[in-house]
Amino acid sequence: MTDAAGRPLLLRNGRLLDVAAGTYAEEDLLAVDGRIAERGPGVAAPADAEVRDLRGGFVLPGLIDAHVHVTAITADLGSLGTMSPFYVGAHTARIMGEMLDRGFTTVRDVAGADFGIAAAQAEGVIRGPRVFFGGRALSQTGGHGDDRGPGTDELPAWSQSRIADGVDGVRTAARHELRTGAHHIKVMASGGVASPTDRVDSVQYSMAELRAVVDEAQAANRYVCAHAYTARAVNRALEAGVRSIEHGNLMDASSVSLFLEREAFLVPTLVTYWALKTEGREFGLPEGSWRKVDDVLNTGLSALEMAYRGGVRLAYGTDLLGGMHRHQNEEFRIRAQVQPPIDVIRAATSTAAELLCADGQLGTLAAGAHADLIVLDGDPLADIGLLADPAAHMPLVVQAGTVARQR
Ligand SMILES: [Zn+2]
Repeated sequence: MTDAAGRPLLLRNGRLLDVAAGTYAEEDLLAVDGRIAERGPGVAAPADAEVRDLRGGFVLPGLIDAHVHVTAITADLGSLGTMSPFYVGAHTARIMGEMLDRGFTTVRDVAGADFGIAAAQAEGVIRGPRVFFGGRALSQTGGHGDDRGPGTDELPAWSQSRIADGVDGVRTAARHELRTGAHHIKVMASGGVASPTDRVDSVQYSMAELRAVVDEAQAANRYVCAHAYTARAVNRALEAGVRSIEHGNLMDASSVSLFLEREAFLVPTLVTYWALKTEGREFGLPEGSWRKVDDVLNTGLSALEMAYRGGVRLAYGTDLLGGMHRHQNEEFRIRAQVQPPIDVIRAATSTAAELLCADGQLGTLAAGAHADLIVLDGDPLADIGLLADPAAHMPLVVQAGTVARQR
């Protein structure tokens, strides 16, 4: 951290990516008070500005990861409740700082992060991405967010999820999260990998319960995102009015038309399966969970391809846990197997911003937007691998008009 807050930052001679058009403009960019104040050729430097010459560096909007768990300091999620919250918070701060260093200036946390973490980041106490939080996810008893093994009835002291059953129960739970300022409500609408007692192909919550959660979120002008794997689970959630589907690895063509009809988003998280398969056990994933990874590993890429060809709005997500967070940028390389680089970049910028209801504010280099940006030493439209290796190819990260990392 080198710049005093509030000092204007003028970046000269960058190639600024217009994410919508997929083209670059060779211009200067001036950030004042955290926002992009002006851009164009030969922008005049305010007297107190810090001026940097980017020498033709490639400038992209700051990256947005729309599916993270910043409090997932271990892959053994059930053990989080036995840890000191101070210890979890300390590691969360580290994880968030490392995300910022990888170019992620904004994240959407979909279970775990709360108003306290978001406030600490906003106040500058924690160095990290801006956090759009949902608080604790809603899970039915025995659902994906139920951390208990089959031999115990006792709930842990803390969990990334809140167990709620029945229409009244889920309404109350959603209201609790909304009263803390949650940007969205996360529901577990199918089984998952990192849960001890459910099957990946199970569907969770009744339609009445799902509709009640959507109803509560919409009443507060918020939206619902749902963890769902199979077509059955995805389609039920979409029919209930859920706005974003997380994972979706086992969806089919019937889901694609529903996504379009409902103008919903899909947030694939392919890198996490690859990481869980190769390193999961080393970082605490229990054996039973590790065996479930194969069910979803190979289908994820074809689901992404089907959704992409069908025109579904796609946002970038990673869902990494514990020591596997360091693979956050590998998702760029994985998606580029089935999508052109510009579309993968849109997923991590403009489309993610739309999902966050922050289009025009985030995920763009337009004047007026938050001055969040990254600089690459080559053209990611020609080589997406540059984004996958930020330590080597991302010399500068700027957040709110302040240099957050430089090489
Ligand atoms: Zn997740």
